[in-house]
Amino acid sequence: MNFQLTDEQRMLKEMVHDFVEKEIRPNAQDWDENEECWSQELINKYAELGLMGLCLPEEYGGQGLSAFEVVLVLEEIARVSPLAAFPVFEAGIGPVRVLQLFGTEEQKQKYIPRVCKGEMLISVGMTEPEAGSGLTDLKSRAILDGDHYIVNGEKRFVTGGGHNEAYLVYVRLSDAKGAKGIGALVIEKGTEGFSFGKQEQFMGMRGFPSSDLIFENCRVPKENLVIPEGGFKNLMQAFDIERLGNASMSLGIAQGALEESVKYSTERKQFGKEICEFQAVQLMLADMSMKVEAARLLLYRAATEASNGYPSVLHASIAKCFCNEIAKEVTDLALQVHGGYGYSKEYPIERMLRDSRGWTVAGGTVQMQRINIASALIGRRFNQRAK
Ligand SMILES: Cc1cc2nc3c(=O)[nH]c(=O)nc-3n(C[C@H](O)[C@H](O)[C@H](O)COP(=O)(O)OP(=O)(O)OC[C@H]3O[C@@H](n4cnc5c(N)ncnc54)[C@H](O)[C@@H]3O)c2cc1C
Repeated sequence: MNFQLTDEQRMLKEMVHDFVEKEIRPNAQDWDENEECWSQELINKYAELGLMGLCLPEEYGGQGLSAFEVVLVLEEIARVSPLAAFPVFEAGIGPVRVLQLFGTEEQKQKYIPRVCKGEMLISVGMTEPEAGSGLTDLKSRAILDGDHYIVNGEKRFVTGGGHNEAYLVYVRLSDAKGAKGIGALVIEKGTEGFSFGKQEQFMGMRGFPSSDLIFENCRVPKENLVIPEGGFKNLMQAFDIERLGNASMSLGIAQGALEESVKYSTERKQFGKEICEFQAVQLMLADMSMKVEAARLLLYRAATEASNGYPSVLHASIAKCFCNEIAKEVTDLALQVHGGYGYSKEYPIERMLRDSRGWTVAGGTVQMQRINIASALIGRRFNQRAK
């Protein structure tokens, strides 16, 4: 498999790199400290650069590129700020892809151009208070009543919750048990009967809006049905692509921590010489580098598959799990390389370490990814449920 970047891909990466250094690096630490969300001004700049809707079709205002380019761009931004990368993630390989892949023509016309122009972000509402890893236990219910669905239920930990303009909400469309009864509706902020819970307080990912979605007899036009009952497999296939966005965030954080550590090791002096002269520090840097390089290759393999359709569950889960795990390990080593300064808020390392943790849970935990991997290896799906 050849992962040589084309000239266009290299230019895209360089363009994003320059933008990040100029517009994002000077602010990243303050955004974390003040829990400040990305601004509309930043999204407008992304839209001008063509970074919103990178792999959405050109006929709807996207760039018509592939998931691979989205991964390249996300890594470049998340290296400095995963917060700033998030709008590009959502508009690139987030829930809007479900609309693009499975939505009606009317839905595509209505939503995709607005996402590409930076006028709208779409979140995904899957998780519920009683249905996290066991997603197919979800209870949110949509009942057709004339021209509308009446939706009742609650979604938890929704990134973008309260802030974003629209939500792809997984709902139960009939009494059929498990995955069978599940489909998805797009529900816009401001719809009667739709409200938000309080902003979540997480250890990291500060500035990311996150809240519960609450539906109380919420009337949603029936044209907003994106995935009918029985389409859970489609939702999961599209979500395998979204998982690569999550993995890119982890890879970016790890790459950023490695870069900071290499730089610091040539600046900081102890015993009269730069700490990069000490073999113990060199070994930490080498370990960090090996982890980052290996993660990148696994992610590129899955992203290449996604660019030609869907990644295999095996490759998407390996990439997500490995990127998530090494981001934890690499940021931890980075803290060690920085000594006391790594533990201090004066430097970005403690932020990177906190941010790395969230991705191991979001998008399906690393344990659930390992279950997918084992299932693919053994060739059998293992029932996780109590008998
Ligand atoms: C930062 C962040 C962002 C998120 N963004 C979104 C979002 O935008 N939209 C959304 O819908 N959700 C979102 N989530 C929710 C996320 O998808 C869930 O938290 C995740 O799926 C785990 O569910 P849970 O928290 O209920 O944990 P649980 O499912 O209760 O898991 C608790 C522990 O048990 C383990 N476990 C559970 N079942 C098994 C099993 N069968 N085998 C082995 N181990 C098991 C888990 O791995 C975990 O370690 C987000 C979460 C976080 C932290």
